[in-house]
Amino acid sequence: AKAAGKNQISVFHPGLRVERLDRARIAEGLRRALDEDEFVLNYQPVVDLRTGEVHAVEALLRWHSPEGIVPPDAFIPTAEETGLIVPIGVQVLRRACFDARRWHERYGIAVNVNVSGHQLHRPGFVGTVLDALADSGLPGEALILEITETALLATGQQETARVIESLSELRTYGVRVAIDDFGTGYSSLAYLQHLPVDVVKIDGAFTGYEAGTDTASRQRHALTRAIIGLCESLDLPAVAEKVETAEQEEFLRDMRCPLGQGYLFSKPLPAQDLDRLLAGGTGL
Ligand code: C2E
Ligand code: CA
Ligand code: CA
Ligand code: CA
Repeated sequence: AKAAGKNQISVFHPGLRVERLDRARIAEGLRRALDEDEFVLNYQPVVDLRTGEVHAVEALLRWHSPEGIVPPDAFIPTAEETGLIVPIGVQVLRRACFDARRWHERYGIAVNVNVSGHQLHRPGFVGTVLDALADSGLPGEALILEITETALLATGQQETARVIESLSELRTYGVRVAIDDFGTGYSSLAYLQHLPVDVVKIDGAFTGYEAGTDTASRQRHALTRAIIGLCESLDLPAVAEKVETAEQEEFLRDMRCPLGQGYLFSKPLPAQDLDRLLAGGTGL
Protein backbone atom coordinates (compact mmCIF):
# COMPACT_ATOMS: atom_id res chain seq x y z
CA ALA A 1 0.00 0.00 0.00
CA LYS A 2 1.11 3.53 -0.70
CA ALA A 3 2.23 5.51 2.33
CA ALA A 4 -0.06 8.39 3.26
CA GLY A 5 1.24 11.76 2.14
CA LYS A 6 1.89 14.65 4.47
CA ASN A 7 -1.58 16.08 4.06
CA GLN A 8 -3.42 12.84 4.41
CA ILE A 9 -4.58 10.72 7.26
CA SER A 10 -5.78 7.18 7.42
CA VAL A 11 -9.15 6.15 8.75
CA PHE A 12 -9.36 2.61 10.01
CA HIS A 13 -12.64 0.93 9.35
CA PRO A 14 -13.93 -1.93 11.42
CA GLY A 15 -13.50 -4.03 8.30
CA LEU A 16 -9.88 -2.90 8.05
CA ARG A 17 -10.52 -0.88 4.92
CA VAL A 18 -8.25 2.13 5.00
CA GLU A 19 -9.22 5.38 3.42
CA ARG A 20 -7.09 8.43 2.84
CA LEU A 21 -8.62 11.73 3.71
CA ASP A 22 -6.98 15.06 2.96
CA ARG A 23 -7.02 17.97 5.34
CA ALA A 24 -9.66 19.92 3.46
CA ARG A 25 -11.99 16.97 3.69
CA ILE A 26 -11.24 16.51 7.36
CA ALA A 27 -12.03 20.16 8.06
CA GLU A 28 -15.28 19.87 6.15
CA GLY A 29 -16.06 16.66 7.99
CA LEU A 30 -15.31 18.24 11.37
CA ARG A 31 -17.76 21.07 10.69
CA ARG A 32 -20.41 18.54 9.81
CA ALA A 33 -19.51 16.42 12.81
CA LEU A 34 -20.21 19.37 15.11
CA ASP A 35 -23.62 19.91 13.52
CA GLU A 36 -24.54 16.26 13.30
CA ASP A 37 -23.34 15.30 16.76
CA GLU A 38 -20.77 12.80 15.53
CA PHE A 39 -18.36 13.35 18.44
CA VAL A 40 -18.45 10.80 21.22
CA LEU A 41 -16.58 10.73 24.51
CA ASN A 42 -15.08 7.61 25.96
CA TYR A 43 -13.94 7.51 29.57
CA GLN A 44 -10.87 5.77 30.91
CA PRO A 45 -10.49 5.14 34.66
CA VAL A 46 -7.57 6.58 36.61
CA VAL A 47 -6.94 4.12 39.41
CA ASP A 48 -5.62 4.51 42.94
CA LEU A 49 -2.68 2.10 42.90
CA ARG A 50 -2.92 1.40 46.62
CA THR A 51 -6.60 0.47 46.74
CA GLY A 52 -7.49 -0.33 43.12
CA GLU A 53 -10.39 2.12 43.35
CA VAL A 54 -11.40 4.37 40.46
CA HIS A 55 -10.21 7.84 41.43
CA ALA A 56 -11.15 9.76 38.27
CA VAL A 57 -11.92 9.20 34.59
CA GLU A 58 -10.31 10.84 31.56
CA ALA A 59 -12.62 11.93 28.74
CA LEU A 60 -11.17 10.86 25.37
CA LEU A 61 -12.69 12.08 22.14
CA ARG A 62 -13.78 9.81 19.27
CA TRP A 63 -15.19 10.96 15.96
CA HIS A 64 -17.87 8.59 14.69
CA SER A 65 -17.69 9.74 11.08
CA PRO A 66 -19.76 8.09 8.36
CA GLU A 67 -16.45 6.66 7.10
CA GLY A 68 -15.62 5.02 10.43
CA ILE A 69 -14.32 5.84 13.89
CA VAL A 70 -11.49 8.35 13.73
CA PRO A 71 -9.04 8.52 16.66
CA PRO A 72 -8.15 11.98 18.00
CA ASP A 73 -4.54 11.94 16.85
CA ALA A 74 -5.88 11.81 13.28
CA PHE A 75 -8.02 14.93 13.47
CA ILE A 76 -6.96 17.09 16.44
CA PRO A 77 -4.05 18.63 14.49
CA THR A 78 -6.44 19.69 11.70
CA ALA A 79 -8.97 20.87 14.27
CA GLU A 80 -6.24 23.02 15.79
CA GLU A 81 -5.05 24.41 12.46
CA THR A 82 -8.58 25.39 11.47
CA GLY A 83 -9.58 26.72 14.88
CA LEU A 84 -12.39 24.13 14.99
CA ILE A 85 -10.82 22.79 18.17
CA VAL A 86 -12.47 25.69 19.98
CA PRO A 87 -16.13 24.72 19.34
CA ILE A 88 -15.17 21.03 19.58
CA GLY A 89 -13.50 21.72 22.93
CA VAL A 90 -16.59 23.49 24.23
CA GLN A 91 -18.71 20.45 23.31
CA VAL A 92 -16.24 18.09 24.97
CA LEU A 93 -16.08 20.13 28.14
CA ARG A 94 -19.84 20.47 28.47
CA ARG A 95 -20.58 16.84 27.73
CA ALA A 96 -17.88 15.62 30.09
CA CYS A 97 -19.26 17.81 32.90
CA PHE A 98 -22.82 16.61 32.30
CA ASP A 99 -21.76 12.94 32.19
CA ALA A 100 -19.48 13.24 35.19
CA ARG A 101 -22.05 14.77 37.47
CA ARG A 102 -23.70 11.44 38.27
CA TRP A 103 -20.35 9.67 38.70
CA HIS A 104 -19.27 12.38 41.07
CA GLU A 105 -22.53 12.30 43.02
CA ARG A 106 -22.58 8.53 43.35
CA TYR A 107 -18.92 7.66 43.61
CA GLY A 108 -17.01 10.89 44.27
CA ILE A 109 -15.17 10.54 40.98
CA ALA A 110 -13.56 13.48 39.17
CA VAL A 111 -13.38 13.91 35.39
CA ASN A 112 -10.23 14.82 33.46
CA VAL A 113 -10.75 16.83 30.28
CA ASN A 114 -8.00 17.45 27.71
CA VAL A 115 -7.60 21.08 26.75
CA SER A 116 -5.56 22.15 23.76
CA GLY A 117 -3.41 25.28 23.67
CA HIS A 118 -5.77 27.05 21.27
CA GLN A 119 -8.66 26.72 23.70
CA LEU A 120 -6.57 27.80 26.63
CA HIS A 121 -5.40 30.96 24.91
CA ARG A 122 -8.89 32.11 23.98
CA PRO A 123 -10.12 35.03 26.08
CA GLY A 124 -13.47 33.33 26.81
CA PHE A 125 -11.93 30.16 28.20
CA VAL A 126 -12.59 30.77 31.90
CA GLY A 127 -16.22 31.66 31.15
CA THR A 128 -16.68 28.50 29.07
CA VAL A 129 -15.47 26.33 31.93
CA LEU A 130 -17.54 28.11 34.56
CA ASP A 131 -20.65 27.89 32.33
CA ALA A 132 -20.14 24.16 31.83
CA LEU A 133 -19.88 23.69 35.60
CA ALA A 134 -22.89 25.86 36.38
CA ASP A 135 -25.10 24.32 33.68
CA SER A 136 -24.19 20.73 34.52
CA GLY A 137 -24.19 21.15 38.29
CA LEU A 138 -20.75 19.55 38.52
CA PRO A 139 -18.72 21.10 41.34
CA GLY A 140 -15.38 22.61 40.37
CA GLU A 141 -13.54 20.14 42.61
CA ALA A 142 -14.70 17.35 40.30
CA LEU A 143 -13.06 18.82 37.19
CA ILE A 144 -9.42 18.37 36.24
CA LEU A 145 -8.12 20.12 33.12
CA GLU A 146 -5.30 18.27 31.35
CA ILE A 147 -2.84 20.57 29.69
CA THR A 148 0.46 19.70 28.05
CA GLU A 149 3.50 21.67 29.01
CA THR A 150 3.84 22.76 25.38
CA ALA A 151 0.35 24.27 25.50
CA LEU A 152 1.30 26.08 28.67
CA LEU A 153 4.75 27.27 27.79
CA ALA A 154 5.30 27.26 24.03
CA THR A 155 3.95 30.75 23.48
CA GLY A 156 5.45 34.04 24.59
CA GLN A 157 5.90 35.14 28.17
CA GLN A 158 2.90 37.45 28.10
CA GLU A 159 0.67 34.70 26.77
CA THR A 160 1.92 32.32 29.40
CA ALA A 161 1.22 34.90 32.08
CA ARG A 162 -2.36 35.27 30.83
CA VAL A 163 -2.89 31.52 30.81
CA ILE A 164 -1.51 31.22 34.33
CA GLU A 165 -3.95 33.92 35.37
CA SER A 166 -6.90 32.04 33.82
CA LEU A 167 -5.91 28.78 35.44
CA SER A 168 -5.39 30.46 38.78
CA GLU A 169 -8.86 31.95 38.55
CA LEU A 170 -10.36 28.53 37.79
CA ARG A 171 -8.49 27.04 40.73
CA THR A 172 -10.33 29.41 43.07
CA TYR A 173 -13.45 27.44 42.01
CA GLY A 174 -11.77 24.18 42.96
CA VAL A 175 -10.88 23.20 39.37
CA ARG A 176 -7.56 21.34 39.23
CA VAL A 177 -4.87 21.40 36.56
CA ALA A 178 -2.95 18.34 35.41
CA ILE A 179 0.24 18.55 33.36
CA ASP A 180 -0.22 15.98 30.59
CA ASP A 181 2.53 13.97 28.88
CA PHE A 182 5.02 15.06 31.52
CA GLY A 183 8.60 14.31 30.58
CA THR A 184 8.19 14.56 26.82
CA GLY A 185 8.58 18.31 26.37
CA TYR A 186 11.31 20.58 27.57
CA SER A 187 10.43 19.70 31.11
CA SER A 188 12.25 22.05 33.29
CA LEU A 189 11.53 20.46 36.60
CA ALA A 190 11.66 23.87 38.22
CA TYR A 191 8.55 25.16 36.50
CA LEU A 192 6.36 22.65 38.34
CA GLN A 193 6.88 24.82 41.37
CA HIS A 194 5.79 28.02 39.68
CA LEU A 195 2.87 26.91 37.55
CA PRO A 196 -0.66 26.38 38.80
CA VAL A 197 -0.36 22.58 38.74
CA ASP A 198 -2.17 20.03 40.93
CA VAL A 199 -1.50 16.70 39.21
CA VAL A 200 1.31 15.36 37.02
CA LYS A 201 0.61 12.77 34.34
CA ILE A 202 3.79 10.91 33.53
CA ASP A 203 3.97 10.09 29.84
CA GLY A 204 3.57 6.49 28.79
CA ALA A 205 7.00 6.61 27.17
CA PHE A 206 8.43 6.33 30.69
CA THR A 207 5.95 4.09 32.41
CA GLY A 208 5.21 1.85 29.44
CA TYR A 209 8.65 0.30 29.59
CA GLU A 210 9.36 -3.37 29.25
CA ALA A 211 11.08 -4.77 32.26
CA GLY A 212 14.61 -5.48 31.23
CA THR A 213 18.20 -5.15 32.18
CA ASP A 214 19.43 -3.40 29.04
CA THR A 215 20.70 0.14 29.40
CA ALA A 216 17.66 1.77 27.81
CA SER A 217 15.13 0.20 30.16
CA ARG A 218 17.34 0.78 33.18
CA GLN A 219 17.56 4.45 32.25
CA ARG A 220 13.80 4.68 31.81
CA HIS A 221 13.38 3.04 35.19
CA ALA A 222 15.67 5.61 36.73
CA LEU A 223 13.84 8.50 35.06
CA THR A 224 10.43 7.22 36.13
CA ARG A 225 11.71 6.84 39.67
CA ALA A 226 13.14 10.37 39.60
CA ILE A 227 9.91 11.91 38.29
CA ILE A 228 7.80 10.09 40.87
CA GLY A 229 10.19 11.20 43.60
CA LEU A 230 10.05 14.78 42.37
CA CYS A 231 6.25 14.77 42.40
CA GLU A 232 6.22 13.28 45.87
CA SER A 233 8.55 15.94 47.20
CA LEU A 234 6.45 18.69 45.62
CA ASP A 235 3.30 17.08 47.01
CA LEU A 236 1.84 16.61 43.53
CA PRO A 237 -0.07 13.38 42.89
CA ALA A 238 1.48 11.54 39.93
CA VAL A 239 -0.50 9.48 37.42
CA ALA A 240 1.46 6.88 35.46
CA GLU A 241 -0.03 6.65 31.96
CA LYS A 242 -0.32 3.59 29.73
CA VAL A 243 0.09 0.93 32.39
CA GLU A 244 -0.31 -2.30 30.42
CA THR A 245 1.19 -5.08 32.50
CA ALA A 246 1.01 -6.32 36.08
CA GLU A 247 4.78 -6.03 36.20
CA GLN A 248 4.64 -2.32 35.41
CA GLU A 249 1.96 -1.87 38.04
CA GLU A 250 4.09 -3.59 40.64
CA PHE A 251 7.10 -1.48 39.78
CA LEU A 252 5.00 1.69 40.08
CA ARG A 253 3.55 0.58 43.38
CA ASP A 254 7.03 -0.19 44.69
CA MET A 255 7.98 3.38 43.80
CA ARG A 256 4.89 4.63 45.64
CA CYS A 257 3.35 6.14 42.54
CA PRO A 258 -0.16 7.00 43.78
CA LEU A 259 -2.19 6.71 40.56
CA GLY A 260 -2.19 4.76 37.31
CA GLN A 261 -4.13 4.61 34.06
CA GLY A 262 -3.92 2.12 31.24
CA TYR A 263 -5.29 -0.94 29.49
CA LEU A 264 -4.31 -3.11 32.47
CA PHE A 265 -7.14 -1.48 34.43
CA SER A 266 -9.53 -0.55 31.63
CA LYS A 267 -9.69 0.71 28.08
CA PRO A 268 -11.51 3.98 27.44
CA LEU A 269 -15.24 3.09 27.66
CA PRO A 270 -18.48 4.57 26.35
CA ALA A 271 -20.41 6.34 29.15
CA GLN A 272 -22.95 3.53 29.55
CA ASP A 273 -20.22 0.92 29.88
CA LEU A 274 -18.54 3.02 32.54
CA ASP A 275 -21.91 3.29 34.31
CA ARG A 276 -22.08 -0.49 34.38
CA LEU A 277 -18.49 -0.88 35.50
CA LEU A 278 -18.98 1.58 38.37
CA ALA A 279 -22.31 0.04 39.37
CA GLY A 280 -20.43 -3.19 40.00
CA GLY A 281 -18.20 -1.34 42.51
CA THR A 282 -15.45 1.17 41.96
CA GLY A 283 -12.62 -1.27 42.61
CA LEU A 284 -10.69 -2.50 39.56
P1 C2E B 1 -3.45 11.66 25.95
O1 C2E B 1 -4.17 12.78 26.58
O2 C2E B 1 -2.06 11.41 26.36
O3 C2E B 1 -4.37 10.37 26.20
C1 C2E B 1 -3.87 9.08 26.48
C2 C2E B 1 -3.93 8.19 25.25
O4 C2E B 1 -3.37 6.92 25.60
C3 C2E B 1 -5.35 7.91 24.77
O5 C2E B 1 -5.29 7.81 23.34
C4 C2E B 1 -5.64 6.54 25.38
O6 C2E B 1 -6.64 5.81 24.70
C5 C2E B 1 -4.29 5.89 25.26
N1 C2E B 1 -4.08 4.80 26.23
C6 C2E B 1 -4.66 4.61 27.42
N2 C2E B 1 -4.18 3.52 28.05
C7 C2E B 1 -3.25 2.99 27.23
C8 C2E B 1 -2.38 1.85 27.34
O7 C2E B 1 -2.37 1.09 28.30
N3 C2E B 1 -1.55 1.63 26.29
C9 C2E B 1 -1.53 2.44 25.19
N4 C2E B 1 -0.68 2.14 24.21
N5 C2E B 1 -2.33 3.52 25.06
C10 C2E B 1 -3.18 3.80 26.08
P2 C2E B 1 -6.40 8.48 22.42
O8 C2E B 1 -7.74 8.34 23.07
O9 C2E B 1 -6.21 7.94 21.05
O10 C2E B 1 -6.01 10.01 22.46
C11 C2E B 1 -4.82 10.47 21.89
C12 C2E B 1 -4.57 11.92 22.22
O11 C2E B 1 -5.54 12.77 21.62
C13 C2E B 1 -4.65 12.22 23.71
O12 C2E B 1 -3.46 11.84 24.34
C14 C2E B 1 -4.89 13.71 23.69
O13 C2E B 1 -3.67 14.40 23.53
C15 C2E B 1 -5.73 13.88 22.45
N6 C2E B 1 -7.16 14.02 22.84
C16 C2E B 1 -8.05 13.05 23.13
N7 C2E B 1 -9.26 13.57 23.45
C17 C2E B 1 -9.12 14.91 23.36
C18 C2E B 1 -10.00 16.03 23.58
O14 C2E B 1 -11.18 15.91 23.97
N8 C2E B 1 -9.47 17.29 23.38
C19 C2E B 1 -8.17 17.48 23.01
N9 C2E B 1 -7.74 18.74 22.83
N10 C2E B 1 -7.32 16.46 22.81
C20 C2E B 1 -7.77 15.19 22.98
CA1 CA C 1 -4.62 13.46 28.51
CA1 CA D 1 -0.98 11.91 28.26
CA1 CA E 1 -0.44 12.50 24.33
